[in-house]
Amino acid sequence: MSRFLSGKLSKLEAYVPGEQPRDRRYIKLNTNESPYPPPQCVIDAVGMAEMEALRLYSDPECKILKEGIAEEYGVLPENVFISNGSDEILNFAFMAYGGRGAVFPDITYGFYSVFADLYGIDAETVPLREDFTVDTEAFCGRNSLVVIANPNAPTGIALTPEEVEKIIASNPDGVVIIDEAYVDFGAESVYKLYEKYDNLLTVRTYSKSRSMAGARLGFAFADRKIIEDLEKIKYSTNPYNINRLTQAAGAAALKDSGYFRKNCEKIAETREYTAECLKKLGFTLTPSAANFLFAKSGDIGGEELYVRLREKGILIRHFTSERIKDYNRITVGSRDEMDAFLRAVCEITGGKL
Ligand code: PMP
Repeated sequence: MSRFLSGKLSKLEAYVPGEQPRDRRYIKLNTNESPYPPPQCVIDAVGMAEMEALRLYSDPECKILKEGIAEEYGVLPENVFISNGSDEILNFAFMAYGGRGAVFPDITYGFYSVFADLYGIDAETVPLREDFTVDTEAFCGRNSLVVIANPNAPTGIALTPEEVEKIIASNPDGVVIIDEAYVDFGAESVYKLYEKYDNLLTVRTYSKSRSMAGARLGFAFADRKIIEDLEKIKYSTNPYNINRLTQAAGAAALKDSGYFRKNCEKIAETREYTAECLKKLGFTLTPSAANFLFAKSGDIGGEELYVRLREKGILIRHFTSERIKDYNRITVGSRDEMDAFLRAVCEITGGKL
C-alpha cells in the first residue's frame, strides 16, 4: 500500500475471486462457470468485421443489446440496465442506495460486504437459519438497502416468489436488490414485479446460464427511475462500459435462447445426479437450485477435501468463515467432469459408489 492511498480505503479488504491457476490443466469446479461453450451464433457474431471496428468506441447506449434483452424478457428498453458483469450493477447500486444502511444475510455472495465497506455503508448481516435458509421476516420493514441473492450463494437455496415479494413489499422506502445470478438453474424470477414495486432492482448475468463469464455482461430490470439513477452513475464513471465484442456477443446470444435453456436443464440434471452420489458417500447437502452444490463430507474437513482434490487437478471452492468451513461449493460441470470429481472423492475418502 502506498502512503498516498486515502485513509478510508486503507482498511478495505478487497473481494478475493476464485483461483484461476495456470500451472496445469484443472477440472474447474470453483467459479460457477458453465461447462458448455456459448452457441455458434455468438462465435459468428464476434467476427473479423467486429474486430476491425475495434478502433471505434462502443455504443454507450448499448442500443441493440438493450432492445434485444427488452424483447426477450417482455419489458421496455427503459426498464433495462446493462453493465460490465453484474458486479458492476451491484457496485453502482451500493453507491447509489446505501445511504440509509444495507442489510444482507451473513452467508451470501462475498462482494456485498466489500461494496458496503468501499462506500462506508453501515451494513447489518442477518444470520441464515440453522438449515441455511434465509430468515425472510428479518428482512421485512427495513427500508434500507436490502440485498438478497436468489438462489443464495454459496448455499444454492432459493426463496419462493411469494417470500421475495413480501420482502419487496415491506420495504417501500428502501431499494431491494434481488440478485438472480443463478435463477435460470431452477428458481423463479421476480423481475416483472418492478411494474408493481418501484423499489425493486433485479440483477441478472450472462456469466452463468449463458456461458459468457469472460465477456463480462450483466443486466438488470427496474422501474425507469432506478434505471436512470444507474445510467447517471455509469455516465459519471465509464460511459463505454460494454466493449464492442461483448455487445455483439450478448445480442447474438439472445437469438438462440433454446440452446441456453437446454444447457440449464442438463446442468440441473447433472446437479441432481451428483447430489445423489454425494449423499450416498455420506455428504450433507443443502437443496440447491443453482449450478453448484454446497456439501459437507462426513469423513473429511472442508479444507482437506479442497486441498486433496486440488492435488488431483480438481478445483472446488473452500470458505474459511467459521460457520461454513466444513462445507465446499462445487460447481456443476459436465457429466464427465462430475464423474471424475466423484471418482476422486471416493479415492480420497475411501467411499464406494
Ligand atoms: N452475484 C452472485 C451471487 C455471484 O455469485 C456472482 C459471481 N461471482 C455475481 C453476482 C457476479 O457475476 P458477474 O459479475 O460475472 O455477472
